[in-house]
Amino acid sequence: MKILLVPCLMILAVTARLNGQTEEPRLIVLISIDQLPYSFLTRFEPFFGEGGFRRLLRHGAVFTEARFDYASTFTGPGHATIGSGTYPHQHGIVGNGWHDTATARNVYCVEDSSVQQIGGEGDGRSPRLLSVTTLSDELRTSSGFRSRVLSVAQKDRSAILLGGKHANAAYWVSDSLFVSSTYYMNRLPDWAAAFNASGVATGFFGAWWEKTLPPTAFVSMDMDDAPYEGNVHGLGRTFPHRITGNDTTSVTANYFSALWHSPFLNEWMMAFIRTALDQEQLGSGAATDMLCIGLSANDAVGHTFGPESHEIVEMTVHTDRLLADFFSFLDERIGLDRCIIALTSDHGIPPIPESILAQNDGRKAGRADRTVIGGLCEGYLDRTYSHPDVSLPWLARVVDGNIYLNRRSLERMGISPESATQTLSDSLRGSDLIAAVMTRDGNWSREDWITGKLRNSFNEERSGDILYALAPYFIDYAGPGTDHGQPYDYDTHVPVILMGAGVVPGSYDSKASPADLAPTIATILGIPFPEGRDGRVLKEALR
Ligand SMILES: [Zn+2]
Repeated sequence: MKILLVPCLMILAVTARLNGQTEEPRLIVLISIDQLPYSFLTRFEPFFGEGGFRRLLRHGAVFTEARFDYASTFTGPGHATIGSGTYPHQHGIVGNGWHDTATARNVYCVEDSSVQQIGGEGDGRSPRLLSVTTLSDELRTSSGFRSRVLSVAQKDRSAILLGGKHANAAYWVSDSLFVSSTYYMNRLPDWAAAFNASGVATGFFGAWWEKTLPPTAFVSMDMDDAPYEGNVHGLGRTFPHRITGNDTTSVTANYFSALWHSPFLNEWMMAFIRTALDQEQLGSGAATDMLCIGLSANDAVGHTFGPESHEIVEMTVHTDRLLADFFSFLDERIGLDRCIIALTSDHGIPPIPESILAQNDGRKAGRADRTVIGGLCEGYLDRTYSHPDVSLPWLARVVDGNIYLNRRSLERMGISPESATQTLSDSLRGSDLIAAVMTRDGNWSREDWITGKLRNSFNEERSGDILYALAPYFIDYAGPGTDHGQPYDYDTHVPVILMGAGVVPGSYDSKASPADLAPTIATILGIPFPEGRDGRVLKEALR
């Protein structure tokens, strides 16, 4: 009887709180800005207004030393971690994609052939491959599904992984449309279909993305027209950038690609979110609701122009203004004091390698994309084994820091995977491009801080035979521009900020992680933690 009584009392307590019998938050707003190193908040703070980032920095609990404690700092793993409070070894999202050795098939982290896209023509997507529950799942189940969860992002994986298994709806962008999946619904709500038909997406055609900040904002930045910046979809490398997609007369698919690389993408999405919030009356239901937001224009701009570009200052300041507008909107509709706002990011970004080399300060930097690493591996294996059949590939896939051996080839050549793994790991350790290597068989003999992070990235079922981290300032991208995905500070150090009821504002330099948000918000709400917790409760910031 005693054993049964405790959970029953817990449920009653949760229900009482969620019924609004005490001052419970009406809405949890979880914001993930795709590619926002913590340093952007300090470097660009002088150019922020009062209502956006500065509001969070002054009235929130700001964790200045928050880092992802794993190596695979990509969008899929990052959003799964933010949503669930666990790292890839538990949540199973080891990369944006991986290779399934059993079926010899490449997998995308939110693919699901058993569902269809709703509102567009793309492939089916769902959180089926997420192995744990999320904060939003726990909110839904502990409220008897009265709490509602809406997740909106430009990328499918961001929206789906933040929303968890039980979100009422997740929406993301496919070309000109906000779409969803039969996993959540059978048709788009009328308001979403009307929004898609309203022409907001094409309304930016021909718009100029212009500089808004004084020259002083750029004195510590690189030159505007740096030769190593990307020049994609007709945007050019310098301000002002015109959003046409290389065709000034008509809207093409290229226009939407150009839009992705501008702050207008975020404007379009925030308009969708305001409509959703009003139409779904989020924050005014029977229980605490949750809104997840993933902003990705920042990522596209950062990849293309780099973290030292004029574009990234303007992009971050534009995001600041969007947040200020959104917080005003929330205040008017729900009351900011009745919301809990959490802001973080899925990863940071390193400088463009050529920009480091141009400084001539002795630092090494470069590009070692997966083709280069794959070629290295093939060379090592060619030299170690007499190759019985050159038509047999050594590798199945190199993706997001994972090397998958081709099991079928090895079998036909009579080489054990263990032997090939040993050869590769020994050889890769000798390469200047590689900082650390971890093998599937758990060879921890060279344990150091990087292999500790690789270990948190390793998932028995999905990771490769070998996990590797590149040397500092080397990136897995052929260019131009830059890319994240490594265990270094520039990729792992991101903001973790909480603001709202129950939170003690201040600056905290204790060790923290984006994985701490889920258990901390669960504690504020008095609901169970998501499964398999890696993050901790940020007790020092709670009343
Ligand atoms: Zn990215």
